[in-house]
Amino acid sequence: MKKIALHWQILIGFILAIIVGMFFKSFVPYVSWMGVLFLRGLKMVIVPIILTSIISGIANIGNAESFGRIGLKTIVYYITTSILAILTGLILVNIFKPGVGADLGFVHKINGLGVARETFGQTLLHIVPTNIFEAFANGKMLAVIFFSIMFGFFITQTSEKSAKKMTDFFNAAFDVMMKLTLFIIKFAPFGIFGIVAGMVAKQSDLWELVHRLGIYMIVVLLALAFHASITLPSILRIFGKANPIKHFKAMSSALLTAFSTASSSATLPLTMSSVENNSGVSNKISSFTLPLGATVNMDGTALYELVAAIFIAQAYGLDLSFLQQILIVVTALFASIGAAGIPMAGLVMISVILSAIGLPLEGVGLIIAIDPLLDMFRTSVNVWSDSCGAVIIAKTEGEELKV
Ligand code: ASP
Repeated sequence: MKKIALHWQILIGFILAIIVGMFFKSFVPYVSWMGVLFLRGLKMVIVPIILTSIISGIANIGNAESFGRIGLKTIVYYITTSILAILTGLILVNIFKPGVGADLGFVHKINGLGVARETFGQTLLHIVPTNIFEAFANGKMLAVIFFSIMFGFFITQTSEKSAKKMTDFFNAAFDVMMKLTLFIIKFAPFGIFGIVAGMVAKQSDLWELVHRLGIYMIVVLLALAFHASITLPSILRIFGKANPIKHFKAMSSALLTAFSTASSSATLPLTMSSVENNSGVSNKISSFTLPLGATVNMDGTALYELVAAIFIAQAYGLDLSFLQQILIVVTALFASIGAAGIPMAGLVMISVILSAIGLPLEGVGLIIAIDPLLDMFRTSVNVWSDSCGAVIIAKTEGEELKV
């Protein structure tokens, strides 16, 4: 029997959940544990996946022979495009305000949370943990990220023997964490079924919820479309002197694969072959930039992280100050760097931001239902940005390309 693709399974779970939540409310307590278990599974992998993904990413950059000019250009491109993507999301989410004033029954107003208690300055100070195990145990994500960056960097400063051992170890550990996360994601249809059924059953005004989620989805899609069709092509034209339409055509099969698998890592072989064979980038550049890009450079994810976190904050009735929004921008950048290139990794990372602004992790319950769909779009943008980066760097290194 042919296996049904995960996103279809999720859709079936979603539709069944709405039916059960609306018409069989008494049945809901018997299924909501599936959602609880799924969220617990996701929370279980957050800290180890951030830790291994960031440490291995940074240690690998340091070890790449070509690190230097090309490495620097790559990092500058990755950070700049991710920040541009985040800012696009920030502007649109502030214009549309999808979550403001939403009376989303299950979301109770909360006071006295981290944000209220901690000033911006304190949040910055607390990025440096006094005890890493306390940071791990309490999910202090900024501190975990900080420690991981430091650890990854200092791996590259040790003797060749130690550096190789540690890099190999963290690469392998990251592989394990990706496999483990993918295993949990397999249960997403059941998890989403449990969460959505509970949400629908509690909702007094279902249309309000659908309406709000609809606007949220439109904001994410509009911002992604802007970034993919205006920002990135302009950068490609200006800095890479390349033809964006030709390059887009060259990448079409990789982009379609990214869309249907929702995984940058799974798409990587195709991304590499399209960039090399169709766009004409040398293997030297593509083999350095693309594998790194698949885990580190996620414009679509970064944008999505920001819009989702602000949407959740709005729905909780939190009025975010300018500084708090800046904090979210920075955290969204790190969350996208820490996200693995696998389906729904971005959803796992939302918790990084929620914890930074002091919102309960349960907030992800609000957006989980439409995450699989948004994941397909954001993953395509992630891969598109990686490929544009490879072309720009190849051109600035003086390579003759086909695009
Ligand atoms: N699925 C995305 C990717 O592989 C990551 C994410 O969930 O945002 O690029």
